[in-house]
Amino acid sequence: MTLPGAESLRKIAVVGRGTAGSLAAANVGLFHPGDYELHHIYDSRIPVIGVGEGSWPSLVDHLQQLTNLPHPVIQRRLNGTRKYGVAFEGWGHRNQDFTHYFTPQQVSYAYHLSADFLTDLLHESTRAHHVDAKVLDITRVEAGARVEFEGRAAEHYDLVFDARGFPRALDAGRQIDLPFIPTNSAIIRRCPAIVQEDRDGVVLRPTYTRAVARPHGWIFVIPLTSHTSYGYVFNRVVSDETEVEEDFDALLEADGVSGFEQRAVIEFPNFVHRRIFDGTVARIGNAAGFLEPLEATAIVSAQLQIGMILRNRLNRSVENLERDTPVVNRFLVDNMLRYALFVGWHYSCGSRHDSEFWRYARDHAWPKYRTATDPEQVGCDALRKFDEMLALLNETVIRQTVIREADRNRTYAVPQLPLTSYAQIAHGIGCYPGMESST
Ligand SMILES: Cc1cc2nc3c(=O)[nH]c(=O)nc-3n(C[C@H](O)[C@H](O)[C@H](O)COP(=O)(O)OP(=O)(O)OC[C@H]3O[C@@H](n4cnc5c(N)ncnc54)[C@H](O)[C@@H]3O)c2cc1C
Repeated sequence: MTLPGAESLRKIAVVGRGTAGSLAAANVGLFHPGDYELHHIYDSRIPVIGVGEGSWPSLVDHLQQLTNLPHPVIQRRLNGTRKYGVAFEGWGHRNQDFTHYFTPQQVSYAYHLSADFLTDLLHESTRAHHVDAKVLDITRVEAGARVEFEGRAAEHYDLVFDARGFPRALDAGRQIDLPFIPTNSAIIRRCPAIVQEDRDGVVLRPTYTRAVARPHGWIFVIPLTSHTSYGYVFNRVVSDETEVEEDFDALLEADGVSGFEQRAVIEFPNFVHRRIFDGTVARIGNAAGFLEPLEATAIVSAQLQIGMILRNRLNRSVENLERDTPVVNRFLVDNMLRYALFVGWHYSCGSRHDSEFWRYARDHAWPKYRTATDPEQVGCDALRKFDEMLALLNETVIRQTVIREADRNRTYAVPQLPLTSYAQIAHGIGCYPGMESST
């Protein structure tokens, strides 16, 4: 089968070998029907971020398509468990625990996975020429992009995926800052496994990511077959790292965890790049945008970015490129901002902890969401769609009027976030939009 854009996509580069770059390189083989040359470029001296253990259900089939392996084999290779949702403890003002299930509830599952093993699995399915070199610059040029290397001649490509991870610094002209998300750091610890393998080394029983509200933020608990991953997500401006470590110790003690290995302390920005795709350079993964790990939106965003860009470049003739590019870019920015609003909204009713962090999150950070996503400033209408979703929630779920057929699976083009997700969070945190008692 020939595709209209395949001829214009003969030489492709993926820069970066973390989760995003590895996914992109594997996807080129899945999508491209013809001859192509793929360069997978990374600097082995620059480590990958190495976290990213929660996913969304779309990854389960996607990995099967990429690897051609049976689902149980993939799960085992990833030290994986089946994630049916996120179990929230202590969030909101109702002082009641709740679960955000994937839809359909208790049927649809994703993986908890080991990030290192995911990239290994993807590399096995990728046909690429590997280049271990530092990239100095990637620039758009006539009919393609130019990649400049340290100690190697520059090369020209038809399409470059830039998966180099977080930008060094944010620049308001290039990135949209998201100050309504109140966290910026995480301490990662690895603890003994708490799940038992059932049959043939595969864990069949449902598992959930725990998201436990704590005085300085929240702690994720991700059960893998090899270990349990714990991460304390906090704000280093509001809380002192020593206090956070002490509270981390307290939770592990309460959980009866016998010991742990300290893995990393990671600082992260919350942002969306204004130009994820310019027609020949596609930023993906943490280079395109990042939201703190609540709801695990990074891998699923990378999947969407890669799929959308490859489909656009292959299915459309190159003559359409100039017209298509802003539309694709706007869609991808809009998608990330909708995730951002959804994630930030979780903090809007505080938690069971009346602490400095939670007052900051609820009273100072979250109220900035409207200014930060003002359509005039960000060039897309994620905010209006968020408002519409809350209005729909108010009308159909909270006031319990009949849900119209057209609204039932309404997603506003964010495939992972149906109305049911908003309803579960609204009920869970006690946020009833449009009603006086909402805050
Ligand atoms: C605390 C925390 C928890 C998280 N939890 C989740 C989760 O549960 N689920 C989820 O989906 N995501 C999660 N994430 C997000 C996670 O970081 C991403 O999913 C994922 O790892 C994407 O990383 P990346 O591939 O974009 O970048 P990285 O892993 O940083 O990889 C960057 C790559 O680029 C290469 N590189 C960099 N600069 C150059 C250069 N100049 N030249 C050549 N090569 C270069 C590096 O060698 C590396 O290979 C979490 C993030 C944090 C901080």
